[in-house]
Order: sequence, then structure tokens, then C-alpha cells
Amino acid sequence: MKNQNEWNRREFIVKPLALAGAAGILGRTDLLFANPPMKTTASGPILQRTLGKTGMTLPIVSMGVMNADVPGLLRRAYELGIRHYDTAAGYQRGRNEEMVGQVIKDMGVREKVTIATKEAVRDHDRELNTADGKARFIEQTEKSLKRLQMDHVDILFYHSVDSVEDAHSEGPLEALRTLKKEGKTRFIGISTHKTVDVISEAIRLNMFDVVLVTLNYTMAHDNGILGTIERAAKSGIGVIAMKTQAGGSVRPDVHLPKPLPPVSQTALLKWVLNHDFVTTAIPGFSTYEHLEQDFSVVGNLAYTEEENTFLADKSFTAQAEFCQQCGECREACPKRVEVPALMRSHMYALQYGNADMARTMLAGIPAGKGLEACRLCDACSVACRNSVQVARKIGELKALTRGTAFSA
Ligand code: SF4
Ligand code: SF4
Repeated sequence: MKNQNEWNRREFIVKPLALAGAAGILGRTDLLFANPPMKTTASGPILQRTLGKTGMTLPIVSMGVMNADVPGLLRRAYELGIRHYDTAAGYQRGRNEEMVGQVIKDMGVREKVTIATKEAVRDHDRELNTADGKARFIEQTEKSLKRLQMDHVDILFYHSVDSVEDAHSEGPLEALRTLKKEGKTRFIGISTHKTVDVISEAIRLNMFDVVLVTLNYTMAHDNGILGTIERAAKSGIGVIAMKTQAGGSVRPDVHLPKPLPPVSQTALLKWVLNHDFVTTAIPGFSTYEHLEQDFSVVGNLAYTEEENTFLADKSFTAQAEFCQQCGECREACPKRVEVPALMRSHMYALQYGNADMARTMLAGIPAGKGLEACRLCDACSVACRNSVQVARKIGELKALTRGTAFSA
């Protein structure tokens, strides 16, 4: 029997290299040829909400395509009633956009769906002056449109903005205004894992139509985050929620070193959607089973008795070890390592089974602030206010990446 760590390490290296066309993005032939369940799972008429000042009306469950590597999954999502697809230039290094574009074209439903994509500013581009920063952002967007085979998207996000300084960086902001004016995108948005600071800045800037924010049950008592998102909605900005399952919708082919606690995925999703300031959620399902499960809430957000029992058990939040990307632990590391980025890499690699995203995340960490610093450290001194076992997760990441391009 193969050692699971070896298998995972092999996946971490081999899977991204095995990409050959949308159908085999992660070599998932098992899912490609699986028979998708054909029943409709909505528990009532599909609930829809309006996305702030965009005026677009969307079903409350949409599709985050990030972890999907099977075109049939997008088709099945459409058959069920999903009408909004969220991708990004950085997902599977552009192949995710290619898959979305091809499926939508093949189905001939471009006018019936809304498409969001996202452009990030890479570290080495942060030093560009406004004109060059704007040009780079526009150039990236043009490439996305080409991969999507579309002349415009419905929402273009300034992606993964995790500091106030980045939020008001003029290059990307000017690019977004220009792209909207030229009709390359109908609406513009900002996505962040640093909700309170960045969303407050987005409200102040008064130029964004949509925000894409992390929201899940582990934040149930964080009035700062909840209040900030609600304030954005009240200002007319449309709110889309991501990371709704708190990292808990693990692919069946992923074997965690430490199993997650039993999770009611429907309870987690309903909890997010029971905040009516959220228009739609983009759970990142990667299997037909998870799609059916997530979509089942779309007609009725009342909790079942079982879901109520799950939500009442307060131990879930601690056991889920969801990193909220607050960044408060950075100071606790003598080398000021980018712990939030490492925690996200861990989630992508070991919970989502998305090796490509994990590699991209690790590669984007500034030199000296990533795993290479941790490799020289005998004992991790970082403690997390949200029960994330940082030392254990860094140890697992080190084991997973040993002998790979990230082992330096
Ligand atoms: S590990 Fe904990 S303290 Fe550090 S960023 Fe994540 S949630 Fe915040
Ligand atoms: S293992 Fe060491 S270097 Fe890495 S985060 Fe922990 S304390 Fe910092």
C-alpha cells in the first residue's frame, strides 16, 4: 500500500504538469466518466436576490469554479439552475477560464449566465507606476477574455486584495474604470480575505459595484466582519460570499493527515445565506455529489433539526481550524513569515486537493517569508487566536513539499 504522504507529494508535483486541456485539468478521469446524478435537488422554487446596484438577479447558490476540473460539472450546474460562474486568471494558470469559456460556448448560453473573472497584481508588479500598472492590468484582462472566448465579462474583480494600500493602488483602479467604460466588463468588484480593512476602503472609494468576501460559520461571532459586510451592502455594493464551507468540502480523493470533524455542509451554506445582505454564495464544489448537496439549499433556507444540532455544537469552529487571514500571528514569528499565506496554501493543497493553487500561493510569498524560513526553524512559536494549529499545518506543508521545487 502506498504511503499517503508520498502519494500526496507525487500529486503535488505531477498533477499540474499533467494538464492537457480542460477535460483533464487535474487528471480526474474518475470523475470525467462518472455518471452524474440526474435528479433535481432544489427543495423549492429557486430563491433569487438582487446584487446591489448592479441590478442583476441571481440564484442564491452560484458556482465557484476554482476547484472544478470537469466540464460536465459546469453543465450539470447549469441544468440544475445555477446561472453565475466565478473563475479567475490565476486558477490552474488560465486553464480554468478556458474550461468555463468552452463550456459556456458549447452550451450556447452566454446570454443566460453571468461570468466573473479576477485579475491579481503580482508582487513584482507592485512597483510599477500608475500608467504601467494600468497597462499591465488591462493586458491581463485582455488575455482572460481571450481564454474565455468572450468580448466581455459581467464582473471583473481586482483579485485577492489584502491590504488597504493595494486597495487604492491607482494602476489597477484606473484599469478597472477604463475596462468598464469600454464595455469589457459590465461591473467591477474587489475580492479580499482581509474583510474589515479592505471592504471599508472599498466603501470609501465608492467605485466598486460588487465585493467578494470570505464568510463562514467560524466568523459567527465576529461583529467586525459581519458589520462591515452589511455596511457594504447598505451602501449599494453587491455582496458575494466565498469560502462558505470553511474549507470543509473535501474532495473524496484527498486524504487529510488530520480528519476534519463531521460537517453539515448544508447547515454551513444556509448559515451564510440566511444573512440577507449576501446575494449569492460561490461554494467551490468539485464533485457531482457536492454540487447536488450545495444546490439542495436553494429553495429553502430553514434549518432542519439535524442542521440546528450541528450549528449548536460550538466545537466545530475550533475543530475546523479555519484561518481567517487576520494576520495577527505574523508578529509572533521571529522571521515574520507569511503565516496567513502558508495557511491558505495548506487549505488549497490538503483540503481542496488543488495543487496548482497551493503552488501559486507558495510561489507568491516574498523571499525569506515562506516555507524556506520555516525549514530552518526547530519549533514553531506561532499561536493563533482562532484555534488554527499553525505548527502542525506548517509541518504538514513541509512534508508535502519536501523534494519539490518549493523545498529550497
Ligand atoms: S493563523 Fe490564526 S492568527 Fe494567523 S492569520 Fe490565520 S486566523 Fe489569523
Ligand atoms: S516554523 Fe518558525 S519560521 Fe515558520 S512560522 Fe513558525 S516560528 Fe515562524
